[in-house]
Amino acid sequence: MKEANMSFAVSIGALLQTELQEDAAHRDDGLCVVGVFGKSNMQSAAAKESFVNTLADKHIFSLFGEPEDGGTPDSHIQAFYNQESRVLYLLLSSVSDSRHLLRACQSLSAGTVHSDAHDFWKGLERQHCLHLLYLFSVCHVLLLVHPNQTFDVAYDRLFRALDALRQKTLPLIRAAIKDCPVSKEWKVNCRPCPPRLLFVFQMNGSLKVSDSLICSDSGGNIDKPKKHSPRRRLQHALEDQIYRIFRKSRVLTNQSSNCLFTVPANQAFVYVIPTVDEDPVGSLLSHLRSNCIFSEQDSTSSMSGPRRYQQMRRSGWQTGFSSDLGSMSMASQPMDCSLKEFLWQHVDLVLTKKGFDDSVGRNPQPSHFELPTYSKWVQVASRLHQVLISNTEEETAELASKVQSQLKVLEGFLEADTKFSENRCQKALPLAHSAYQSNLPHNYTTTVHKNQLAQALRVYSQHARGVAFQRYALQLHEDCYKFWSNGHQLCEERSLTDQHCIHKFHLLPQPGEKLDLDRNPPVLNHNSRGRFTSSCNCGRKQAPREDPFDIQAANYDFYQMLEEKCCGKLDRIEFPVFQPSTPDPAPASNQAQQAPCEASGSGEAEKLKEPSAAQSHTLGDTSLSLYLPGMIHSACPKGLLPKFSSWSLVKLGPAKSYNCHAGLDQPGFLPGSSFLLPWDLVLRSRSEEEAGLTESLDGGASSWPAPNKTVVGKRGSAGGLGRSRRRDDVARVFVGFEYEDGRGRRFVSCGPDKIVKVLGPGGAKDPATRVLNTDMPLYVPSPSQGRGLKPHYAQLVRLFVVVPDAPLEVTLNPQVQPGPPPCPVFHPEKTDLLLPPDGLWVLRFPYSYATDHGPSYPPKDNQPLNNYKVLRGILKATTANPPPQ
Ligand SMILES: [Zn+2]
Ligand SMILES: [Zn+2]
Repeated sequence: MKEANMSFAVSIGALLQTELQEDAAHRDDGLCVVGVFGKSNMQSAAAKESFVNTLADKHIFSLFGEPEDGGTPDSHIQAFYNQESRVLYLLLSSVSDSRHLLRACQSLSAGTVHSDAHDFWKGLERQHCLHLLYLFSVCHVLLLVHPNQTFDVAYDRLFRALDALRQKTLPLIRAAIKDCPVSKEWKVNCRPCPPRLLFVFQMNGSLKVSDSLICSDSGGNIDKPKKHSPRRRLQHALEDQIYRIFRKSRVLTNQSSNCLFTVPANQAFVYVIPTVDEDPVGSLLSHLRSNCIFSEQDSTSSMSGPRRYQQMRRSGWQTGFSSDLGSMSMASQPMDCSLKEFLWQHVDLVLTKKGFDDSVGRNPQPSHFELPTYSKWVQVASRLHQVLISNTEEETAELASKVQSQLKVLEGFLEADTKFSENRCQKALPLAHSAYQSNLPHNYTTTVHKNQLAQALRVYSQHARGVAFQRYALQLHEDCYKFWSNGHQLCEERSLTDQHCIHKFHLLPQPGEKLDLDRNPPVLNHNSRGRFTSSCNCGRKQAPREDPFDIQAANYDFYQMLEEKCCGKLDRIEFPVFQPSTPDPAPASNQAQQAPCEASGSGEAEKLKEPSAAQSHTLGDTSLSLYLPGMIHSACPKGLLPKFSSWSLVKLGPAKSYNCHAGLDQPGFLPGSSFLLPWDLVLRSRSEEEAGLTESLDGGASSWPAPNKTVVGKRGSAGGLGRSRRRDDVARVFVGFEYEDGRGRRFVSCGPDKIVKVLGPGGAKDPATRVLNTDMPLYVPSPSQGRGLKPHYAQLVRLFVVVPDAPLEVTLNPQVQPGPPPCPVFHPEKTDLLLPPDGLWVLRFPYSYATDHGPSYPPKDNQPLNNYKVLRGILKATTANPPPQ
């Protein structure tokens, strides 16, 4: 690259990759590297850039408009190599600069949460530190630029952080540069020399050194003229202050080779720039003027920098020209030098290979110093750039990642707020934990867990602060969940009567598996501790039962168990159930509704076997490999059958096995409430016929009924009818809706809210038409309420029907809606059941009702009972056709 091409700044990465063709005359000359960093505010947005412009006496950096760095908020280093003066300027920009800060703020989206934003800023800060470490490792002189005249003590923390980081990463950096062609000392210390740190403060408006003040000062018309200008005194005061602070915090020690940087003991290291003229035109004009003067000055000042500086110090020779930025009035400041002169005294020490001798104390150790050629410096700087900044080269990737892992050391210095937040949140955690565990039972439900967790979070948020808030809140969540799930979780399965299982979290035994209490989680059946008394299918045997958790246990298993002891041998009408045709039948999903009709032949066969089943179910659609999981109801897929029926229909005996004077002879009935209601059906009205001439309706061949057979029906019931219907042929059916409560107390109802109570002889008087022509409630308040506050319900469990031996067709069509709409209507697998004559039939209703969406629980407090009902029309009777002649 030609020298002409180096008249503008390039990024450090580009500089290191460029093969610079140096002038042969200078190729072996040494190179002084000057790093510039620091902060800038909006007023002095391009302060650092303009310094380099001033120092290099060239327009290198555009002071207006965006630099070409892609507009990211990331730190970056720009380089400018001034070959004539053999100075390489490195300029670090970061979020310390208002321009970058603005970009960083723009790149944070509005939705960024607090801790993410914090991470973002910390990331930028860590990057800034790495770039600084790079500058401190490759520069001879460093220039800290600050936008006002007050020393920012945060630098003390920053430099201690950098020092710690440097110590941590030294072995890694050493490994990176071990093959570079530089001196052993450089390789050991990983820098050409302990760099000198110089401070440049810009005086801002709040402390304006006016010309008049300077004039009056220097004019000496007051009693005791000051020796130095106010600016000079400020510089001295700042030097003292900075030195004291860094000595105190041991950033600076006696041996300069042990320090991150040095400051000269007997040279100025603080420079204060007077206030910039606020008139932009004037400012530009003075720029122009100073630039014009520069070219004159250049030849002298760069040639004889240090000597001239000392000369000035001694003699107070007034500079005839000031090259400072802005408006310093010319020729008015005795003993003040320009920024360039200020820097040059240090650069000259480097370029003349004198080095810095900044160690102090009784036995000052000479520190190493090396003036590299450009090519040597580039080799070292490239390796360090790969390791510390770019991280792109494969061969140094491992070192680079190790450097990244050392960045943790910065946290202790830079992240005071994080530390505070961590401590704060850590202290809040135990408080939150104890809030979670207060008043906690040993085992508890999700709801309790959530409530306690909310309480714990409230306590936590009262005490926790800062960026770690979110992280520790998550930990609190996890801790509480762990505590709960680790042996404190309650099984939350609810029984079909809506009571939760009292066990702690457990598994259910698989088919064939034994219960195992010692396993974790234990293998157990659900248990709500609820125990009820219930009767068998026919009603003759009562037995205790546990609160059921599934439909099969509720509606099938319990009754099967009692069948073995009681009603297993009774005649019955079986309801069709699923007959598996495959070894592994599957429960039907919702898609089963569209399941193609397969094996229709088998369906036909079933239809033949159960002719009446086809009345409401198109069994031809039954898929023989799919069964209905649960119960049949009005909303479930048609054509599917469950594996078991939740209903039962048995015949206790012939019609005469019911004695209407004694009522049902079954256990558990309240006194006087086991009587079925008479339902008289007129077979033929005699008043319209010729009395005595009609043939009997009892199907017998005899033309005259025997005196005792005038009324066809239950024997012994005739007495009550003689008077009113003397001349009619009447058949008497007996009907009883039986309710049973959880303690096994039973009664027959003679109206939606009335219990049959027969005190005298003669049986029940209320006609059955009342109960048959209305929707009967599925639940009624139990006549004997328990001591608890909870209402106690009796549930409709059985329908007794005595069908006389008469030409009647009694059809049974039970339909139950166990809840408010849209609760579907439940019915047996077969409807419109024809009850054969001469029988005492018992229809047993399901104990529990459930759909795919879950159980239909019994009513709770204050829920209207009339939403739970057995639809009217459960029984229909028609007189049979006259028997064939
Ligand atoms: Zn359970
Ligand atoms: Zn029984």
